[in-house]
Amino acid sequence: MGMNDASISKAAVIGGGVSGIAAAYYLQKNGVPVDLYESLPGIGGRIGSDYMNGRPLDYGGKNIGLKYERFREFVKDLGGLDFEYFGFNTSQVINGRVSAFTKENERLYNILRVLSLAGLTGSIKLVPLLNAVRRDPSLGFLNTPYFNAIADRYDQRSLASFVPDKCAKYLLRPVTVRMNGAEPGECFPGNFGSNIALLLDSYEQLREGMQVMLDRFRLFSSSVTFLTGHHVSKVEAAEDVTRVFYTDGSDRLSSGYKVVIVTLPAIQASGLFRESLPDVASLLASVLYNPVAVALVAYHENVFTDMQRAMVFDQTSPLSNAGAYGVGDLDLVRYTFSGKAARKVVTDTADPKEVVALGEKIIEPYFHIRKNRRREYIYKYISPGLCAYSPFHHRLLERLDEYSGKYSGLYFTGDYRRGASLEACFRASAETVNCAMKRCFR
Ligand SMILES: Cc1cc2nc3c(=O)[nH]c(=O)nc-3n(C[C@H](O)[C@H](O)[C@H](O)COP(=O)(O)OP(=O)(O)OC[C@H]3O[C@@H](n4cnc5c(N)ncnc54)[C@H](O)[C@@H]3O)c2cc1C
Repeated sequence: MGMNDASISKAAVIGGGVSGIAAAYYLQKNGVPVDLYESLPGIGGRIGSDYMNGRPLDYGGKNIGLKYERFREFVKDLGGLDFEYFGFNTSQVINGRVSAFTKENERLYNILRVLSLAGLTGSIKLVPLLNAVRRDPSLGFLNTPYFNAIADRYDQRSLASFVPDKCAKYLLRPVTVRMNGAEPGECFPGNFGSNIALLLDSYEQLREGMQVMLDRFRLFSSSVTFLTGHHVSKVEAAEDVTRVFYTDGSDRLSSGYKVVIVTLPAIQASGLFRESLPDVASLLASVLYNPVAVALVAYHENVFTDMQRAMVFDQTSPLSNAGAYGVGDLDLVRYTFSGKAARKVVTDTADPKEVVALGEKIIEPYFHIRKNRRREYIYKYISPGLCAYSPFHHRLLERLDEYSGKYSGLYFTGDYRRGASLEACFRASAETVNCAMKRCFR
């Protein structure tokens, strides 16, 4: 095995998804050269675009909140990109009736609907949490004193037992299935602040898709060496050097660094430490991830109307959500399969064509599908897909920091640190880089 310690004054970032990109971006801002390891041929991870008739379409994370401060600053630094309005428009079948819920609706109507679904007990539990995040948006990320106290008090039971059934089913489920790929029974009250942040924001998307942003980032990052096609198999921390073991497609190699920032989903990060730090590996392995499948399907005629652009489905349906790709794309459907029922049917071996047909069958009673011919589609099965964290999650993070804190050169960040939104990934990486800078480079 080849060894190379020439990179000792550099930092290594493991993973080229949004968390790794953000870590490399902040390191570069601090004047630290970076080796960025990514096992796939391109960067992006769970964001990125595929092309349909030359148009880039995002299969992964794409909606950017108006409150995403760090992410927007990053885009500005890249030279700026055009955003387009996405809004918040969905409907739901409740007791056989379609009920619309949109940010474009009357505010009072929305509030009354939420209160009626929450019921008195649900409202008593949820309104204080909502108000807390509204007053202090920093509570919309994981691991804050306010929500850690909620976790300590309530996380021995799930979010489903925190509120009445109707409230969990119709109000919380659409949010947890979308953000965490999980049922309310698989999520925990102490982590719900990050879901509330999602509810309180309004959304845009990049007009030309995420791929353009990824390409810009590569051009922008003069002090980042992009080691794509480099799969990391192991990381070993010692007092003054942290060693990264990897293959570049043919050879097995290793390099030593002053600082290594691991940005992989916890479940994948776990695999790098099985031999060197088994306690860290088992902690990371206990963070929950759920798969998600996304199909983008173009039709000859409009499927949706201006007033009804999306629908969420209940826990019996493998299709969790179907919506127009953009405000002006009423003929382009984004089908999302996540949640418990989806996991049974939409597996890694499922035939994309059958999955698309399943989605169509489910939305057919509500939208113009039956005599509407399909033009083209893109399909992606993503696993690990959506992070659902863990009960008493702050304790897990604290223990992780205790273990890794023994080594000045080893850091962990990712979607399980501050939350799974793109903004939360940026925030977590910024904090991690700050910490590494203080300990190692100043
Ligand atoms: C379908 C979907 C829709 C979403 N929608 C939104 C949204 O609208 N808005 C929003 O804010 N968020 C959204 N999210 C969440 C957000 O996209 C993710 O939380 C975020 O992209 C995760 O980025 P990451 O860098 O932490 O992880 P990843 O994107 O998973 O990056 C990890 C990277 O590491 C690489 N890697 C793995 N193992 C190794 C190894 N051993 N060696 C080297 N490289 C390795 C992987 O190939 C990958 O590129 C969505 C997520 C999904 C899946």
